[in-house]
Amino acid sequence: MTSLKAPAGNKIKLTQIPNFIDGSYTPALSNQTFETVNPATGEAHGLVAHGTAGDIDLAAEAANRAYETGPWAHLSYAERARVVSKIGDLILVNRERLALAETTDTGKPINESYDGDILRSAQNFHFFSQFASTFAEEAYSAGENERHIAVREPVGVCGLITPWNLPLYLATWKIAPCLMMGNSIVLKPAEWTPYTAYLLAEIVREAGLPDGVFNVVNGFGAGGAGEALTRHPLVRSISFTGETSTGKAIMAAASGSLKKVSFELGGKGANIIFADADLSEAIPTALRAAFRNQGQICLAGSRLFVERAIYDQVVEKLVGLVKKIKVGDPLSKETEMGALVSAEHMEKVLSYIEIGRAEGELHCGGERLEALGAGNFLSPAVFTGLPIGSRFLQEEIFGPALPILPFDSEEEAIAMANNSPYGLSASIWTSDINRVHRLSKKIKAGMIWVNTWFARDLRTPFGGQKSSGIGREGGRYSLEFFSEAKTISYRYKG
Ligand code: NAD
Repeated sequence: MTSLKAPAGNKIKLTQIPNFIDGSYTPALSNQTFETVNPATGEAHGLVAHGTAGDIDLAAEAANRAYETGPWAHLSYAERARVVSKIGDLILVNRERLALAETTDTGKPINESYDGDILRSAQNFHFFSQFASTFAEEAYSAGENERHIAVREPVGVCGLITPWNLPLYLATWKIAPCLMMGNSIVLKPAEWTPYTAYLLAEIVREAGLPDGVFNVVNGFGAGGAGEALTRHPLVRSISFTGETSTGKAIMAAASGSLKKVSFELGGKGANIIFADADLSEAIPTALRAAFRNQGQICLAGSRLFVERAIYDQVVEKLVGLVKKIKVGDPLSKETEMGALVSAEHMEKVLSYIEIGRAEGELHCGGERLEALGAGNFLSPAVFTGLPIGSRFLQEEIFGPALPILPFDSEEEAIAMANNSPYGLSASIWTSDINRVHRLSKKIKAGMIWVNTWFARDLRTPFGGQKSSGIGREGGRYSLEFFSEAKTISYRYKG
């Protein structure tokens, strides 16, 4: 990476972030905008089109026209792959610009944007452009001179609604398979982080995607553009990543027009370390799992359970490492933890830290770092002694605050891991392969890591059980969601 320059302090020029409808950037119908704020400085850096139901109408109509009349829905996988992989190529060409935009919007360290989010966004397009051609259709021969084939067709107009924690990464995780299956898209990015979706629209146009196939409407959720999208009669499916409570609201709104829904929701991952684990791996990984992206990751190992024989040792080592985390300017390459996404979110995290102080023991952190300026900087916190039923352990904090609890037996570890409304992911650290099998079977989560965290193969199913979601993304699971199966049965003369 060459040097990245931040906009100069008080001379910030506000970036205009319009909607993108039918191949053109366009202001909101109301001409209203709202500010998007840099979490590291507290200053506005962009003016975002405030889209509402009328803008969703325009985008859904453009998407539907493109679907009904355009070539995209009828192209072969190979023809679509040429455009979709070009989008991935252009993301790499624009890597620095996109990384800077992502960090300015989210407050995450620039290294994470540049080496993590933006690379993965390009990979999402490259992966699905190749993988879709392996998506087999089915054929059966039931009786003599009879053939039944099951084909896959586009769904039509798909609404994609995405969160602020990994904005481009998670939007492209939906956009790439959705495009490969021949659909048209209306994307509603999170209101806190609209910048990279705006830049992506330019890339999509340059890659040669026909007008109307990809549209972006900015705005808010409940009562705003997000809700309008979930109620729109032309929109046939909603793929949503965000909070569990929002998923429930979307399910109710989308039921009116009976849309397909796929939900990737909240998490409260258990990270379980047994005494026979390789602690030289387990402890630094527990640190990353709890504090990467300021703890704002659905897959975070946000509850750490440690076998009692090694409990004191793990707490001491981990607290030592947490105290050394470099919190600061997200644009500095030395920074390990940046700013939380918004002042509101920081207040929410601080309210949980108050619960932690009242009910348990604070070992480090938990302070607002005012010396770093007006940004949303918190020192990473570690707590022990909290009861398993505490709101601190039950609710998703989505911030840099980790509780550690001891356990005495395998059964107790399983019970603690499952003592949560969520069921997205869990990690198990042990050298006993039989224990791995027993725990993987009994822990209720969509993804289990053994002696690792965050490892992914994009072909495997990604998603959660219980309050963590409905459906799966990844590989053929995404392609199935973004397509309709149709059976064609025929007789022929023998
Ligand atoms: P959120 O639910 O507040 O917002 C997500 C998106 O939904 C935004 O674009 C928002 O404008 C929109 N929205 C809000 N209310 C809406 C409504 N009534 N109708 C339609 N759209 C609406 O979530 P967030 O705070 O942006 O993101 C953090 C959450 O996302 C956490 O709970 C986190 O665990 C979850 N998440 C889950 C995964 C996963 O893969 N399971 C990945 C990342 C984040």
